[in-house]
Order: sequence, then structure tokens, then C-alpha cells
Amino acid sequence: MIDQEDPSRDRLKHHFAQRVIHQARHVLEVWQRLQSSEWTAPHMAELAEANERLLRYAERFEQAGHAQLAHGIAHCLHAIEANHGRITSALISELNLLMQRLSRTGLRHRDRLEQTFLPPLRKPVYLALQDVERAERLGQQLEFFGVNAQALGDANAFRSAMVERHPAAIVMEIDFSGTGCGLRLAAEVQQDLEQKLPILFFSHEDTDTPTRLAAVRAGGEEFFTGTLDASSLLERIEELTHVTQYDPYKVLVIDDSRAQATHTERVLNSAGIVTRTLTEPIQAMAQLADFQPDLIILDMYMPECNGTELAKVIRHNDRYVSVPIIYLSAEDDLDKQLDAMSEGGDDFLTKPIKPRHLIATVRNRAARARNLKARMVRDSLTGLYNHTHTLQLLEDATFRARRDGQPLAFAMLDIDHFKRVNDTYGHPMGDRVIKSLALFLKQRLRKTDHIGRYGGEEFAVILPDTDAASAFRVLEEIRQRFAEIHYPAKPQDLTCTFSCGVAEWSDGVDSKMLSKQADQALYQAKHGGRNRTVIFSG
Ligand code: GH3
Ligand code: MG
Ligand code: MG
Repeated sequence: MIDQEDPSRDRLKHHFAQRVIHQARHVLEVWQRLQSSEWTAPHMAELAEANERLLRYAERFEQAGHAQLAHGIAHCLHAIEANHGRITSALISELNLLMQRLSRTGLRHRDRLEQTFLPPLRKPVYLALQDVERAERLGQQLEFFGVNAQALGDANAFRSAMVERHPAAIVMEIDFSGTGCGLRLAAEVQQDLEQKLPILFFSHEDTDTPTRLAAVRAGGEEFFTGTLDASSLLERIEELTHVTQYDPYKVLVIDDSRAQATHTERVLNSAGIVTRTLTEPIQAMAQLADFQPDLIILDMYMPECNGTELAKVIRHNDRYVSVPIIYLSAEDDLDKQLDAMSEGGDDFLTKPIKPRHLIATVRNRAARARNLKARMVRDSLTGLYNHTHTLQLLEDATFRARRDGQPLAFAMLDIDHFKRVNDTYGHPMGDRVIKSLALFLKQRLRKTDHIGRYGGEEFAVILPDTDAASAFRVLEEIRQRFAEIHYPAKPQDLTCTFSCGVAEWSDGVDSKMLSKQADQALYQAKHGGRNRTVIFSG
């Protein structure tokens, strides 16, 4: 007992526990690489090895959460092995679930669970500005967003930091540690690097083209002039350092021949693509709603109805207009192929098809479709879900809550006195605040939560598997932290607050009612004096 109270021992333990996070990060990186490669034996072995090490560390440093996940992953990998390397949709999904959990698992330290809102082990961002105090202030602002920022005093400090660790990005003032020195320093560090680091240059004064050209040559991804503020900086850093979460593609295979369908499934599964097969095309619509595939592979000739007819039916539903349809058939008559394409198909593959070709086609099509969909359902200023899509997601979420008997919370947020921000500081500043709140929410909520921009300065958050009390705690924490952000402005810095209303789903309540309840709670929060969270009570 006395041992546990010893603070230095505690620190040491914490230090070692960090290794678990490092290793977890490594496992996730290997996993992410699998997204664009085939799941061959050597790749799988690499994953297994990284995971075994994670398991060892987690057990040694008493991180039960990580140990449990590593066990689960090992279990899946063994199952694949026992299956002679055959990967199934169920195993892909299971692995993906475990990996997603792994990316969200914090460190257990003493009795507290340290919440790491961001993916663990975020590399730092180095701040090299002429005025160190300003760099430190900026660093603090970035910390609010969970970015690990490090202000460096001079060229030597910068060089030694570079030796110690490569950052995720560098913010470099042109005249850092002497006129033009920042630029030269940046060029110097990039020279020896195989993979260039993203550098964001900054200069007080607007600069001439030769300087900008030199900045580009030194690996400059951005050139800020005038004042440097945390939120626009953050936005760029996010873009430059963002690692996309792995989410396997889902393909619905519709084919009346079981053998052909199984063959297609095997090929796709071997590349980590999740599949579901339908041999009776009549059930297609129900399956689409339930499975939400990224892409459909459709047999041209089936007894009940043919592929082109089915494609038309699918296209009639607004929700599936953009899901790519690939025909798979022995038909090699070019005219017939063209006819089929004009009936809502996106591609036509002729049997027998080479596995590589099939995998590449599916990946390309699915990636583009996801991209397109992301743009259709997202708001352009913030990248959050737009109003319509948020409501659709809420509907899906209430459906699931009812089916699984899980709680569900819905929250509405509205920035306080936002008109004043626009009136006093101008519309662009208002936009900046909206964007920064969006980013703040993205970084502080779980990946399973959905965040939408509901209206101008209104946001909505769907929190599955969460009751009102837990949602309240999370949102209160966000509210308090958000209020601490200072936006640099004249005549004085700007701070903003928001009000929030929370409602918990209960039996007999549909999504429309739920959103009305959250809205009512928000109204109460506004009338109670703003800058607060209120839970709806009937
Ligand atoms: P309250 O605390 O009651 O919410 O007061 P408020 O001033 O925030 O509320 P109100 O709804 O009266 O005003 C919202 C303002 O938000 C009005 C509108 O001009 C502004 N706004 C809406 N969308 C945007 C946007 O995209 N950018 C900017 N800069 N302003 C916006
Ligand atoms: Mg409003
Ligand atoms: Mg408002």
C-alpha cells in the first residue's frame, strides 16, 4: 500500500505505461496500412507480431484495457490462421471493432482512467517564433485543442528538439532567430529528410515572391502573414497531420449463383473488404437499408429479375442514388454492356475476372463514392454533417436504441450572443469561431458520436449508448473548456460561450420528438442565463 503512495514510483509506472500507448499506436499503423494492400501472410504476420508485443507490454504494465483488446485481436488472427488464411467478413468486422476501440483506449493510471480524447501518441508541433512568449501563448491555445505544441526559444533549441523527435508539423517564422534565419533553418532540416515535414511559415509583414518561393522550396505548405491565430493554424495542422480512420469497405453481392457469389466474396474478403451476399434479388432493398454498403456488385442475369431492372429500382431511392453498381457477368457483347451501363450501372466486369482487377475496381469505386458522399452530407464551412443528414442519423440512432435497448442522448448547442461577435469583430471572425467550435467538438467527442451543424451557429450531437447524465458531463466539460479559448482580436481578445440542451431517448419517442426535447432544454439554458447545459425533463 505504501508503495503505491510513493509518487516517484507512480511516475515511473506512468512512464512505462506510455510504452503501451506507443505499441498500440504501432498496431494501428500496421492495421491502417492493410487498407491499401492485400492481406497477404507476411502482412498478417507483421500485425500479429506487433499485437503480441502490445499484449506483453500491456500485461507487464498492468493496462487491463489494452491487454483485453490485444487478446481479442490475437484471437481473431489465430482464427484466420486456423482457417488456412481465409479471411471472412465476420473476422474483418471483429478486427475493425477491436482496432477502433484500441484507438480510443486511454491509460489506466492508479484508479483514474486518463481520458485521451485524441488518438494516443500525437506527435508534437514545434513552434519557432521570434517572440518566445507569444509562441508559448500560442502553444497554450493549441493545447486546448489537444495539440501537443512545443515553443522553442532559438535555433539551437530547435535543432536539439529535431534530433530528439520529429514533429508532426513545424510553425516557423521567417525571421526566427535572426533575419531570414528561420527560412534557412527550415531548409537545413528538410535537406536530410527522406520524407519532408510539413512546415507552416509565418511572417509579420507581407513578403515578396522570392521569399515565398524559398518557403515553398523549404517544404512550406502554408504561408501565414499578419497575425497568427490558433484556430486557423489548427485547421491547417489538422489537415496536414490527419490520419484517416480505417473503416473497411462494405460490398453487397447480388448473384443468384451461390458458387459465383462465394467466389466473389472470398476474393474481396482476402483484401479486407466486408461482404454480404444476396441470392434473391427481391430482398435487395431491405438488405441495403440494413447493411449500408459502399458498393453493389450485381449479376446481369438472374431468374427473378435481371440486373438492370434491379439497378433501376435501387436508383429510385434517394438514399442510394450515389452507391456505385458494378455489373458482373459473362456477357461480352459490348452493346449489351453499354445498355446495362446506361441503366444506372457504373462499371461492367466480365467473368472470369482476375482477383486483383476486381479488388482494385471495388476499392477505387468505393473510395470515390465515400468521398462524394462525404461532400454531399457535410456542411462546407465546418465539415460537419449538415442539417438533413444529422436528422437522418438521429433517426437511425433512435431505431438502433430501440432495437438494442441501449440509451441514446441528443444534444443541441447554440453559441451565446453570436450576433455581437459578428457585429463587433466582423463576419469572418464569426466564421472562425464556428469553425473552431466544430473542431473542438470533433476532437473531444467519441468517433461513434455524430456531430452536425444544425444551423448558423447551432450544432447538434448524437451520442449513442449514452444516458443524459453522462452526456451532460461530457458536454459540460466541453463547454467549460471552450469558454477558456481566447481568440486574438482588437481592441481586446474575444472569448465565446455556448448554451446546451440535452435529451435522452425513451420508449415511444421518435427522432422528431427527441430533437424537440433537446431544443426545449436549450431554450431553458438560454433563459436561465446562457453558458450552461440543461437536461430536458418532461
Ligand atoms: P443567443 O445567445 O440568444 O443565441 O443570441 P445570438 O445572437 O447568438 O442568436 P441569434 O440567433 O439572434 O443570432 C445568430 C447570429 O448568427 C445571426 C447570424 O447573422 C449569425 N450567423 C449565422 N450563421 C453564420 C455564419 O455562418 N457565419 C457567421 N459569421 N455568422 C452567422
Ligand atoms: Mg441561434
Ligand atoms: Mg446563438
